[in-house]
Amino acid sequence: MVVAEMIYRVLGKTGLKVSVVGYGASPLGAEFGAIDPAEGKRAVDTAIAAGINYFDVAPYYGRTLAEARLGEFLEGKRKSVVLATKCARYDVKGFDFSQKRILASIDESLKRLRTDWVDVFQVHDVEYGTNKQVLDEAIPACQKVVKAGKARFVGITGYPVHNLKRLAEQAEVDTILTYCRYNLLDTAAEEVLVPLAKERKLGLINASPLHMRALTNTGVPEWHPAPARVVEAATKAAAHCKSKGVDIADLAMQFVLANEAFATTLVGMSKVRHVESNVKVVGTKADPTLLAEVMEILEPVMNVCWREGLPENDDPNAVDKRS
Ligand code: NAD
Repeated sequence: MVVAEMIYRVLGKTGLKVSVVGYGASPLGAEFGAIDPAEGKRAVDTAIAAGINYFDVAPYYGRTLAEARLGEFLEGKRKSVVLATKCARYDVKGFDFSQKRILASIDESLKRLRTDWVDVFQVHDVEYGTNKQVLDEAIPACQKVVKAGKARFVGITGYPVHNLKRLAEQAEVDTILTYCRYNLLDTAAEEVLVPLAKERKLGLINASPLHMRALTNTGVPEWHPAPARVVEAATKAAAHCKSKGVDIADLAMQFVLANEAFATTLVGMSKVRHVESNVKVVGTKADPTLLAEVMEILEPVMNVCWREGLPENDDPNAVDKRS
């Protein structure tokens, strides 16, 4: 049962008031395995009932399946949510940062999402494009989409935080979304992105607070890119929390939600029980002793990050995936 009161924060200069827990729709596209669509719909309904108003999706998730499902599940509720989607990524290796593709992409997304506009339109995984094309073509194309009234704000998303910072310094964007870079295993976004976001009033969106399931009792999916020692440390930390009667996912959520620099934290949720678990920790504090013990277990792998995208866009300390 959902008990906590939702908390809202302002998403930078967009002025949008967004719930601190945001709904990540990638599991609706079966990115973490097949799901029961009826349960997915119940999860969306439960999220809205619990005060979650930020919904994040992309054409890439389930290769359009997540957008189609979310559009169906939000039917009649569109006006009560802030809806964000993306462009330029369409498959594992399928990227197209051209203006032509982005202008077509928004129309395809709007159709699937059953709406006339999205609130935030983001260039997806910018590290897979050259900075030149992202700056000269992709972001201006998104701005055209805003001028056409099909989106309200423009954002960029990705993994290497230094690349996101470089782009945000040079382009007119409203939001930055980064994933797996602010949680119990990695806090690089705090150091690299928060100062710029404060200075420019950019909305910061923190995705994957559970480090794509590393910080859960279920453990990582087979495709998880983290090096083995990161996964091993996370497994050890989860077992330690369990021995103290705590679900590591709760601790992980308490940790990220306490940082007010991030307007919303997106968790992937296709199950009602996950929505309920993640909402119930809103407004609660992590047990400081347990947090310190977990941090000690994770310390040897803290901020270990992997290569993602074009080599020129890697973070300086990045290592090979699954190394
Ligand atoms: P996540 O860290 O949120 O983990 C999601 C997984 O954990 C799912 O398998 C889910 O079923 C499970 N889960 C959720 N709550 C749980 C709980 N309380 N206990 C146990 N398991 C739980 O990772 P994510 O889904 O990759 O990230 C969240 C969202 O952020 C995505 O759905 C997507 O919308 C967004 N995102 C964007 C980008 C990008 O733009 N480049 C990248 C990653 C994520």
